[in-house]
Amino acid sequence: MAERLYRDTGVVLRTYKLGEADRIVVILGQHHGKVRAVAKGVRKTRSKFGARLEPLSHIRVLMHQGRQLDVVSQVELVDGDHLPLGDLDRTTQGLALVEAVEMLAPDREPVPHLYQMLVGALRTLGRTSSPMVVPAFYLKVLAAEGVRPELDLCVSCGEDGPLVAFDLDHGGALCRSCRSGSPMSPAALDVLRAMLGGRLNDVLEMGASPVSAEVSHLATHAFEHHIERRLRAVAMFERL
Ligand SMILES: [Zn+2]
Repeated sequence: MAERLYRDTGVVLRTYKLGEADRIVVILGQHHGKVRAVAKGVRKTRSKFGARLEPLSHIRVLMHQGRQLDVVSQVELVDGDHLPLGDLDRTTQGLALVEAVEMLAPDREPVPHLYQMLVGALRTLGRTSSPMVVPAFYLKVLAAEGVRPELDLCVSCGEDGPLVAFDLDHGGALCRSCRSGSPMSPAALDVLRAMLGGRLNDVLEMGASPVSAEVSHLATHAFEHHIERRLRAVAMFERL
């Protein structure tokens, strides 16, 4: 029986317990995509091995490919890529990023753009605790998935403004006469445009404010909506 070993660099998306001593880790690898693997014995000892396999760790791994679950054989941290420990706010934001990626990434299918976006967003979180990192990630993911929201014209009638609502069911911003979905302030619209228009660094200067809360709500809602639609599409496909 030929053993299949492979190496990859990846981010730990999630971990859960398996039996007394083992842990299952879900990793998004640069080359192998989303993979579930067993890390044996990590919960028995306080091994460095186990500490490296926490959510948000950026790691290089050597794996044995298994029939269902792969097995982690070696793991080392990629230097300089950790979130500041003890910073609960950034950790919470980082966990929102990996949770989103876990929902989006198919099993064992390379998604290099998603991997790059995730590593980029985690590095950004290493530099700033701006509340706009996660909403910007959601919007950029939507754009990468081919559902970039229209923010310049009303998606229903083509009027250029004022745009007062946001509804991803229709594809983006809506004017007063066509409005549906969530109401949207002019300030929030500006931030959304800046995020998708190459001015992310300006947005990341923003602290927490009613506008940042509104943008966060709009982006989260749009992202969840996209995920639900995809899950429905998958369910339909599986019934066929
Ligand atoms: Zn309209």
